[in-house]
Amino acid sequence: MTTAIDPVGRFPEEWRDAMRDLGEKPFRAEQIFRWIHERGVLDPDQMSDLSKALRQQLKDAGFAPPAKVAHVHTASDGTRKLVLELAQGARVECVIIPMTDLVDADASAAPEDDEDDMEPVAAEKTRVTLCVSTQYGCAMGCVFCASGQAGLQRALSASEIVAQVLISRQYLGPNEELKNLVFMGMGEPLHHYDETARAIRLLTHPVARGMSPRRITVSTVGLVPGIARLGADFAGKVGLAVSLHAPNDVIRDRIMPMNRKYPIVELMRALREYPLPQRRRITIEYTLMDGVNDGESEARELVQLLRGLRVKVNLIPMNPISASELKAPSGARVAAFQRVLAEGGVSCFVRTRRGDEVSAACGQLAIADDLVKKKRERDALAAKKG
Ligand code: SAH
Repeated sequence: MTTAIDPVGRFPEEWRDAMRDLGEKPFRAEQIFRWIHERGVLDPDQMSDLSKALRQQLKDAGFAPPAKVAHVHTASDGTRKLVLELAQGARVECVIIPMTDLVDADASAAPEDDEDDMEPVAAEKTRVTLCVSTQYGCAMGCVFCASGQAGLQRALSASEIVAQVLISRQYLGPNEELKNLVFMGMGEPLHHYDETARAIRLLTHPVARGMSPRRITVSTVGLVPGIARLGADFAGKVGLAVSLHAPNDVIRDRIMPMNRKYPIVELMRALREYPLPQRRRITIEYTLMDGVNDGESEARELVQLLRGLRVKVNLIPMNPISASELKAPSGARVAAFQRVLAEGGVSCFVRTRRGDEVSAACGQLAIADDLVKKKRERDALAAKKG
């Protein structure tokens, strides 16, 4: 029996080793890599410049795409949610978000103030942001987020992360152009750092004319060692977004358990040390939860906390999830919060919610109810025992 080869997760040099083993010329490696990563072709039969024999060998070796599309949900605002089936029963979602002018102006990943970013997009093209998942479930346990309600099921491999991009590209309209990639779907990208980093290396690989790392943004609950590694490994070029959601440890401990391990002082130190290029800013995500973190005093504290850091704040009124009673504040409270930040000199934007009707909005990417139920039963049992 052959072990299926994972076509999407290999670097050109790994393909080169495979070609040598097959007695093929080394340049075949780059051809195959380009078929996959530049053109998104995952079927050896379509790799027309390879010999028939090699195509057959690839198939015999079990060349299999790491993901398959189970559903596509389209919202009236053009947001599309793809549900992908992966190995071992894992299912993840990735979300294609066309940018209207309104949203583009505050897109967390759009480095609009970046020179390198000024390459033209044809006027008639719509910029699209793609949001990918890095884990099936999540171990971080944030109380307001649906993704973690069943705990972590498993991490995705680099190839499963990259496959979301390759497959999503096939769902773009002729006038859409993939501009930004955000690691803001299900899971914590810095929890299994190696897979995330490998995925970024594959996606940015020059052999397939990959995307610029500047167009990629990794969002984290604030895993301090991961932030340091990301900064060092990619020289600060990969965009960083941090889900802060609270200006002090008292509130943050309550809503984000990871804060007990990496409290706000340590997180802020990691942000100050991130080797941010000139003119780039770190994105601070702040989900506003009614009566929890949305008062004007919290806004003032946030202004103090962020003083001296190059950041922009995205305020996200909490999207409802079934597992929690927490809800968004009134529009007036959102506006009051935003006003305090603006007066404190912090640039901030209120994020319009996208894809809500297909449950693709932030924090709503959920996994099957039965897994959530199992987790609750386990927790209840543990509570009884402990
Ligand atoms: N684990 C990473 C990647 C997920 S990004 C991180 O936490 O950053 C998803 C973003 O949506 C995070 O900022 C998350 O805190 C936020 N979010 C989660 N649940 C939400 C909800 N119910 N409403 C609004 N935003 C939410």
